[in-house]
Amino acid sequence: MMFPDRLRLKLQRMAEEGLTRRLNVLDAGTGPVISYQGRPVILLSSNDYLGLAAHPSVVRAAVHATEQYGSGAGASRLISGTLPPHAALEAALASFKGTEAALLFSSGYLANLGTIPTLIDRGGLILADRLCHASLIDGCRLSGADFRIYRHRDSNHVESLLKRRTPGRPTLIVTDGLFSMDGDVAPLAELVSLANRYDALLYVDDAHGTGVMGATGRGTLEALAVEQEIPFHMGTLGKAFGSAGAYVVGSHALINYLVNTVRPFLFTTAPPPATAAAAHVALTIIQEEPQRRVRLWANRDYLFHGLRRLGFHLTETVSPILPIIVGDAQTAVAFSNQLLARGIYAPAVRPPTVPPGTSRIRVTVTSEHTTEQLEEALQAFEAVGQALRLI
Ligand SMILES: *Cc1c(COP(=O)(O)O)cnc(C)c1O
Repeated sequence: MMFPDRLRLKLQRMAEEGLTRRLNVLDAGTGPVISYQGRPVILLSSNDYLGLAAHPSVVRAAVHATEQYGSGAGASRLISGTLPPHAALEAALASFKGTEAALLFSSGYLANLGTIPTLIDRGGLILADRLCHASLIDGCRLSGADFRIYRHRDSNHVESLLKRRTPGRPTLIVTDGLFSMDGDVAPLAELVSLANRYDALLYVDDAHGTGVMGATGRGTLEALAVEQEIPFHMGTLGKAFGSAGAYVVGSHALINYLVNTVRPFLFTTAPPPATAAAAHVALTIIQEEPQRRVRLWANRDYLFHGLRRLGFHLTETVSPILPIIVGDAQTAVAFSNQLLARGIYAPAVRPPTVPPGTSRIRVTVTSEHTTEQLEEALQAFEAVGQALRLI
């Protein structure tokens, strides 16, 4: 196949800056220790925070749903793709979140890409946190609204932008609940109060918070005690839920509006019955086995304090996401490669996923890691950190 020179050049330039990536095939699936290139490695990059992707009941639910309903839904939700596992999961999610209704999407990316442009359009104004997830940014761009970035977690900056806008202009404030690459949380209480005061709509993406944050795992909104104030928000089922897909929750009226307007909901095949059934069982486990979150937070604290003690520079993380900022992309890649040589799988995260100059190793920990595994990981971090003169 022809590959135009200008595209070849573009890729070459990315390679020179250390920004090209390749796909790594893992020999075996999810878990605290996986197999990579024929040998066991400790996995410190998964978002399967509670170990539910491989949980026997979750897997069994997927198998049963496949046997009962087939491997694919066969049509979009509004044609003939809505099956009992979809409806049951939506009801369970609404009940979990204490909202009137919930709507299932094929992925969090599609939920954001589709929902934001139905909330605001050309003529409107969007204020988005500088570190918003790419799917939020893409949804904002697609809306055609004017789009301003505010400094990370800076509600004073949000207020100054709100004060300067043309009075009465439709406005949407967009933020992650728990930031995916930094592991810190948005100032949701302040954003709610600004949204109310300035008559703006707030859109919160709690992809990483759902199942993890809050006393009962309902997410960052629960952790920050703003659930009553923010009934409308989204999260994914591909992270702590160990499945795939995403949800938006809100009032009946709002969900009905989305059913009728969101193009990536209308014009895509419904999620497979297996993923919906798996996510439903995962939700039950999230509610019934709080000890998984207890183990997760104990592991998180162990690794966080261990890395700090070694002298690594971590961001102000308050979650199982532990980013070690090293600066340039090449150093991050060397860091990751040397960790891998020592049996630790923790990939480098580089621009455009994070801002230039903030390349990092993004470490995530799960409830399933043992203390021995975390200790082994810390020893590898110490050796590599010293070799690269980072500590
Ligand atoms: C992972 C993620 C998404 C995308 O969710 P998928 O279900 O994986 O498509 C959206 N927003 C944030 C903040 C994320 O971290």
